[in-house]
Amino acid sequence: MSTIAVVGVGLAGVRAGEALRAQGHDGRLVMIGEEAVEPYDRPPLSKQVLLGTYEACDIALTDTASRAELDAEWLLGTRATAFDPVTRHLTLSDGQSLHAEGVVIATGARARTLSGVPELDSVHTLRTLDDARRLRDDLSRPGRVAVVGGGFIGAEVASAARALGHEVTIVEFEQMPLLRQLGSAAAGVLRRLHTDHGVALVTGVSVTGLVGRDRVQAVSLSDGRSLPADVVVVGIGAVPNTEWLAGSGVALDNGVLTDEWCRTTVPGVVAAGDVAAYRCRGGRRLRIEHWTNARDMPATAARSLLATLRGEDPVEQPAHDPLPYVWSDQYDSHLQIAGRPDADDALELVSGSFDSGFVAVYRRDGAVTGVLAVDSPKEFGRLRRELRGTWATR
Ligand SMILES: Cc1cc2nc3c(=O)[nH]c(=O)nc-3n(C[C@H](O)[C@H](O)[C@H](O)COP(=O)(O)OP(=O)(O)OC[C@H]3O[C@@H](n4cnc5c(N)ncnc54)[C@H](O)[C@@H]3O)c2cc1C
Repeated sequence: MSTIAVVGVGLAGVRAGEALRAQGHDGRLVMIGEEAVEPYDRPPLSKQVLLGTYEACDIALTDTASRAELDAEWLLGTRATAFDPVTRHLTLSDGQSLHAEGVVIATGARARTLSGVPELDSVHTLRTLDDARRLRDDLSRPGRVAVVGGGFIGAEVASAARALGHEVTIVEFEQMPLLRQLGSAAAGVLRRLHTDHGVALVTGVSVTGLVGRDRVQAVSLSDGRSLPADVVVVGIGAVPNTEWLAGSGVALDNGVLTDEWCRTTVPGVVAAGDVAAYRCRGGRRLRIEHWTNARDMPATAARSLLATLRGEDPVEQPAHDPLPYVWSDQYDSHLQIAGRPDADDALELVSGSFDSGFVAVYRRDGAVTGVLAVDSPKEFGRLRRELRGTWATR
């Protein structure tokens, strides 16, 4: 009876466990999760949880019935600290050593922090349920909120803080939020979304320090200004959780390197979700920090791991080759993006208007590279399906 260990029990880990069982793994299944709480979904953390409309029970990824069906051993509040590829032993933070023929790496990512700044109260990042609860507590008191970073998390936090009645400023290094990801036309639309809702934008500057004794009082900016703030939220991206794999032989480079079948450089070890930098058909390498990828990639990882353990060639199985997709809810607007456009791809309006709801496509050399929609889910869905066809064959 073979043992498979799933390390990390966020969305990708839970889906990997479920896929392993659904695809016939009837051996021992051990689910190892650093967080001491039952697995939960992250997108609502920056939306409904901050607004106070969802509690922990509303975002659970498992329930009694699904856990019973999974028939796994759960080691919650336990971190994998090392993996030895020769003995196939995982070392755990509680001192245990676990032998596993198969390993799924699903350790996700953690929020990047500002370096070289003092540790002060009311300075937050947002990745975990604990983070969201602490931030929600701080947002329950009136105050000025500074959001560092105008990416999706920053924008959603700004939107929630504004809805809770705070005076909000976003500090963004680029001239506009999401400029590098979406290009100037789309970034301009998002900038308007913020300003129309009364959020101030300070762009083209970076944060050089934080001011305060115990609690934060202000953010120092690279142009010499000081931005008063009672609460600071740092949303400057995420770092893949791979340190525990040092010396394991699993190749790392801004994430765990995998092939199209989610295989790492160590046989019988696969990776999925935010931590995995996978190779697409066509040779491009992508590490996608989106919910849909964390939901879908584990099925391929499980299939290829089980094939390897049976001594079969996983390459006979379908590869992981999704069309990237992300959504974001900001203010009253629902944003959707499919594909992987470059910022300098041409953006062409398909329907609606940039002043309200619209669907637009990105093109490079005449070919569609992405679809962007605001409040137009039906038309977006149609174009996303079309793009999926061409993306899959690229
Ligand atoms: C606030 C927020 C809002 C988001 N909103 C959206 C959205 O609107 N749309 C969208 O598409 N995506 C969104 N995302 C992204 C989406 O939630 C992630 O892509 C998804 O959660 C990734 O799942 P994962 O399982 O790969 O990683 P994670 O969710 O990061 O889970 C990894 C787990 O592994 C644990 N772990 C790490 N190291 C170890 C170790 N050594 N041993 C054991 N356990 C370990 C971690 O503690 C964590 O619990 C959002 C993310 C956040 C944080």
